[in-house]
Amino acid sequence: MTKVRKLEIRVRIAPSPTGNLHIGTARTALFNWLFAKHHTGQFILRIEDTDLERSDSGFEKNILKGLEWLGLKWDEFYKQSERLDRYEKHLKKLLEEKKAFWCYHTKEELEAEKKEQTQKKEAPRHICADKYQEPIGKERQIIRLAVDENSTCVIHFEDIIRGHVEFEQRVIGDLSLAKDLRTPLYNFAVVVDDYEMKISHVIRGEDHIANTPKQILIAEALGVSLPQFAHLPLILGEDRSKLSKRHGAVNFDEYIGAGYLPEALVNFLALLGWSPDNNAEILTKNEIIEQFSLEKVHKSGAIFDVKKLNWINSQYIKQFNDEGLADLTMPFVEKNFGKQDKAFVLKLASVFRERLEYLDQVKEFKYFFSEPEYEADMLVWKKSDREKTRKALESVLEVLSGNLEWEIFDEKYIRSELDKLAEEKFGGDRGAVYWPLRVSLSGEKFSPDPVQIARVMGKEKSLNRIKNAIKKLH
Ligand code: GLU
Repeated sequence: MTKVRKLEIRVRIAPSPTGNLHIGTARTALFNWLFAKHHTGQFILRIEDTDLERSDSGFEKNILKGLEWLGLKWDEFYKQSERLDRYEKHLKKLLEEKKAFWCYHTKEELEAEKKEQTQKKEAPRHICADKYQEPIGKERQIIRLAVDENSTCVIHFEDIIRGHVEFEQRVIGDLSLAKDLRTPLYNFAVVVDDYEMKISHVIRGEDHIANTPKQILIAEALGVSLPQFAHLPLILGEDRSKLSKRHGAVNFDEYIGAGYLPEALVNFLALLGWSPDNNAEILTKNEIIEQFSLEKVHKSGAIFDVKKLNWINSQYIKQFNDEGLADLTMPFVEKNFGKQDKAFVLKLASVFRERLEYLDQVKEFKYFFSEPEYEADMLVWKKSDREKTRKALESVLEVLSGNLEWEIFDEKYIRSELDKLAEEKFGGDRGAVYWPLRVSLSGEKFSPDPVQIARVMGKEKSLNRIKNAIKKLH
């Protein structure tokens, strides 16, 4: 078995630009980055774009943008499409040494073979009987590694997370390396790159574990040493199946767009399969770096719990002062409700701080930005009727029109005045006063406290809304 190389810590994230940044890739990138930072090593970004048909520069930009947004700065950057000479050199050498060969079997022949094997309940593999013959009248199809079909060898490696892992060599077959000298395939390009880029640890999703024995065989053929492997547990939905669209967004952009904060996402993603010794749930980036270790990564799947993400994000939102929160929410407010005064959004900061789980949730506060729309009946408190409700609102209007100094807005005093009203006119039933006030200000059954809304809205707008409500009840 090839020796494991022991060098400085160099890790990589190797996304294929065949789609936008996936939440799972963001988490794998984060774990690599944390490991590098913990060991003062290097974090490398390698774009695996050898599949020209499926790769797209738009996806590449999206991936880079997402990683930057998370704050995962890379120390080195590579693109496989710019390294074709490297792969060609190694392929030629393998062909010369007869460790690799051209396969002439067509797609149709391979499919027929696979069908037969499946029928016989054998693991599908392709073995070329005459590896070095050039059949007359047939075209070269693909370059394959010559794997000993009769080998009784067991390919094994020590995974830092999963422990001892082994695969039988004979089930692998003559695995494909490249479509031609300048079109390498995934497993081959990865081995060349991980070696040439001196990658010390390959930290990637568990879905790649079956590729590892293939990569070990390729490394052996190339005569190069191996990195250490650490396969991260899969991210699962709440029903414990592999995370997919039906569990929620998997596209990282959607989290940026919804207004999750980068620090909160780093915190949340770090806890997807890892936890600190004291099981703390809110940790700064530096605390995570300090405590991070692959040995503490869990073996079992990590459940993606959106409620937990929302809670973590709300904890980060709460850390901002009014000014900071106004700046943070302004783009989301303007996206949903058009141009706004900063002074007004500043007044809203305390409402937002208490209630937002993610910034785009500001859209649930429409009534602050436009007249509420609702049916008159909604104003009527359960134990009341239209007539009584109108009277209640008229009394509320009287209280709020009084000498209340709206600018200072003494919430306690206003509340005590409204409580007094409930006491004197409605037998202590506070709902009779606060319910219609809430609906007239917000048009909602559930909203922040109506006195809080009145504070933000100011005297004129608040009184107008109450007057409109009274009109509705006539
Ligand atoms: N390009 C592969 C992917 O996007 C990288 C796998 C690996 O880390 O080896 O899944």
